Amino acid sequence: MMESAKQLEERLLYTREYAVQDEQTNEKAHVFCEDYKQFLNQGKTEREVAKVCEERLLAAGYKAFEPGRRYQPGEKIYLLHREKCVIAATIGSVDMERGFRLNAAHIDSPRLDLRPMPLFENGGMAFFRTHYYGGIRKYQWGTIPLAIHGVAYLENGRQVVINVGEEEGDPVFCITDLLPHLSAKQNERKLPDGIKGEELNILIGSEPIPDPEAKKRVKLNTMLLLNEKYGITEKDLVRAEIEIVPAQKARDVGFDRAMVGAYGQDDRVDAYGALMAEIRVQDPIHTTVCILTDKEEIGSEGVTGLNSMYLFQFLRQLCVAHGADDILAFQNSICLSADVTAAYDPTWADAFEADNATYAGKGVAIMKYTGARGKSAASDASAELLAWLTKILDEQKVAWQVGELGKVDLGGGGTVAKYVAYHNIPTIDIGVPVLSMHSPFEVVSKADVYMAYKAFEAFIRQ
Ligand code: MN
Ligand code: MN
Repeated sequence: MMESAKQLEERLLYTREYAVQDEQTNEKAHVFCEDYKQFLNQGKTEREVAKVCEERLLAAGYKAFEPGRRYQPGEKIYLLHREKCVIAATIGSVDMERGFRLNAAHIDSPRLDLRPMPLFENGGMAFFRTHYYGGIRKYQWGTIPLAIHGVAYLENGRQVVINVGEEEGDPVFCITDLLPHLSAKQNERKLPDGIKGEELNILIGSEPIPDPEAKKRVKLNTMLLLNEKYGITEKDLVRAEIEIVPAQKARDVGFDRAMVGAYGQDDRVDAYGALMAEIRVQDPIHTTVCILTDKEEIGSEGVTGLNSMYLFQFLRQLCVAHGADDILAFQNSICLSADVTAAYDPTWADAFEADNATYAGKGVAIMKYTGARGKSAASDASAELLAWLTKILDEQKVAWQVGELGKVDLGGGGTVAKYVAYHNIPTIDIGVPVLSMHSPFEVVSKADVYMAYKAFEAFIRQ
């Protein structure tokens, strides 16, 4: 008998379904994201997230990595790298020459950094000057409550931790914008210049010091308050890393509460799933390595970015201690570059090619390649790697989808994938689709967050 069109469609065509097909999985996704939201609220800078991860690893029994030490299968170790990156590993049962299972996410997010000389007074108010970090749409950062996070060093070398704007009752800060009544000239600007880099000034005070003799009375009063609270002087702001981030907490989005809205989900959403999968893995076959790195948003540069050797030095040290050839170990490794991708947005449908877009709620998204202008700077994963990975995901009933960032000639982006692939480690991009990526309030589907975690778990167990 001839197959019906419906039967043919089922047998021959490929449609992506909703990630959540049953109530039980839905419930698990919602429960998983309760702790995820806590995680987002606990850390809003790479330093804070690294610290939170270290605490969670220690609580899970991880021991600080000791170079030169030989570990037993099943042992769990971690390395906090220069306060901004974390590597966590579970020793596998097979020889390290058989390769690592690497899962790399990043824990830095777009934000505003204070400049080295940030403090100034103008118009009877005190401000911090900023320099934006990563790709932000500057106009999105005006007129929203902001918090100040960071560290500064006193003359005597003591570290001071600054965190204002998160607790109930804390003051918040903001970037001001023009009123519509006076914006005729500003309205003629192009959108990227709606608020310009030099206009990203943070309002931090308006009370003058009582003594009229002072040259800048509000600036001095603000510095006095900072000195009373943190012991710092203006010079100490030079030896500081202070970041301005949105002050709001992670919230459920939608009547169904099926999404999470929060700052910094690129890429803490994948970092969280990667960390949870790593913490929960017991006695893996291959040595699992979860990498939570810094500086992805500015091209993985510097000593805490994956374009530095720190991860590969760690892997080599492990190999040396276990008598394994690191070249063989790298050749036989596989890496997930766990990073977010753009979720299809019907309001901005023009930016996407619907068949190759990834959708919120349709599972963890695999990106064969990233890059821009003809895959430039992409780490293009092989068909072999896709075949290997999708088989595992199907077997483990992980809902996944595949796609590209957006329309071919519209733009693009990169991830850490190419910096890992440089070491002859096959690498593929995979992660959670995000709405309003790089904005102060990014939105993800809880089902996708959960499926990303399931994917990472399935991967490191192979
Ligand atoms: Mn990212
Ligand atoms: Mn990003």
